[in-house]
Amino acid sequence: MDFALSDEQVSLRDEVRRFAENEIEPVATEYDEEEAYPQEVMDKAAQMGLTGAHIPIEYGGAGYSVLDVAIIIEELFSVDPGIALSVTSAAFGADAIMAFGTEEQKDRYLTQIASGEAVMGTAVSEPDVGSDVSAVSTRAERDGDEWVINGNKMWITNGSVGDFFVVMCRTDPDASDRYSGFSQILIESDRDGFTAEKITGKLGIRASDTAELIFDDVRVPEENLIGTEGAGFLQMMQFFDDTRTMVAAQAVGIAKGATDRAIEYAKEREQFGRPISEFQAIQHKLAEMAMKTEAARQLTYKSAWAVDQRDQQLTALASMAKAFASRVAVEVADDAVQVHGGAGYVNDFDVERFYRDAKITEIYEGTTQIQKNIIARELLGKSFV
Ligand SMILES: Cc1cc2nc3c(=O)[nH]c(=O)nc-3n(C[C@H](O)[C@H](O)[C@H](O)COP(=O)(O)OP(=O)(O)OC[C@H]3O[C@@H](n4cnc5c(N)ncnc54)[C@H](O)[C@@H]3O)c2cc1C
Repeated sequence: MDFALSDEQVSLRDEVRRFAENEIEPVATEYDEEEAYPQEVMDKAAQMGLTGAHIPIEYGGAGYSVLDVAIIIEELFSVDPGIALSVTSAAFGADAIMAFGTEEQKDRYLTQIASGEAVMGTAVSEPDVGSDVSAVSTRAERDGDEWVINGNKMWITNGSVGDFFVVMCRTDPDASDRYSGFSQILIESDRDGFTAEKITGKLGIRASDTAELIFDDVRVPEENLIGTEGAGFLQMMQFFDDTRTMVAAQAVGIAKGATDRAIEYAKEREQFGRPISEFQAIQHKLAEMAMKTEAARQLTYKSAWAVDQRDQQLTALASMAKAFASRVAVEVADDAVQVHGGAGYVNDFDVERFYRDAKITEIYEGTTQIQKNIIARELLGKSFV
């Protein structure tokens, strides 16, 4: 058991930190205010290998382990969660192609993401389908050697900037049980009948693109099927086991960023003739913020390790890490605003943005309630709830 990062991981963390401070920090408020996609930052991040961090080297990626990627995510999110989400979600769906795709799909799609030429997404949620993934209604029907897709997907990260999407479709409406009859199909955004409508007015992560996708008789070749026809639900659940750890790492980054800023402010701000950091109430708050962040980090790293090892505990650990770390992010960001007093309530200070950005980690990729259902299911040895 080793609790220290390797020398390579320390160098990686420091390099990513420098990138975030130089390229992201100066433009963070601007992209948040404008709700704009940070294309300039994306190009630089791709050059550094950050958009394809987990993609294997043979497909042009950086080939980092899940633990390495967690370290990258933490550093980027500790500077600005919105832009960090755009950078680290450019390959959102690549793990499904890596796990279930054909060699041809890997060659064609992973290389484009790794080079920064393309951005992708994963589309499961629909206007009437969120926590209950087994209710997905987007329909894909075979017509000769093509799939014809009809339906709507809601809240899709990278929806209006993405070049292709791993889309959860119902391919057999007469399947014998609730979890069969779904397939993952890759849909390119330049297909006829594909429309994306950007969603604005989000509480946080406003530099990340979110859109509704509409498929109106979209036709793709049958070879766009990812993995096995009818196994899409189980494939998607395995994908979420991997990516939930990444959301936990996002939350750790937010908590770290909020804590760092609260410490800095508490040392500078004076009241009653002394820095507020000399009041024990503030010291205890800072201690609790650091303590909770470190606990969330350890659980997240263990979950990342479990994904790398394909350890049998990984489903439970990923849900524990996501549920725990996301709550920590929300609480710690709240505390950081409190330490700033009135100054924390306006966007002159980053903590106002962290406070808004933190909440999404409790919602996407399965809400906290769904994570608890999964943990309980694993504890009780049950099948899907
Ligand atoms: C900014 C943003 C980006 C997103 N990106 C993507 C994306 O890229 N791809 C994608 O597919 N989706 C994406 N989503 C959708 C996200 O995954 C869903 O919002 C989330 O899964 C919750 O679904 P819902 O919003 O429909 O809530 P609902 O499922 O309607 O849930 C509402 C409330 O009921 C609770 N609840 C529901 N069922 C249960 C239960 N069985 N037990 C206890 N409580 C329950 C939930 O926890 C929640 O509190 C994104 C969402 C947002 C806001």
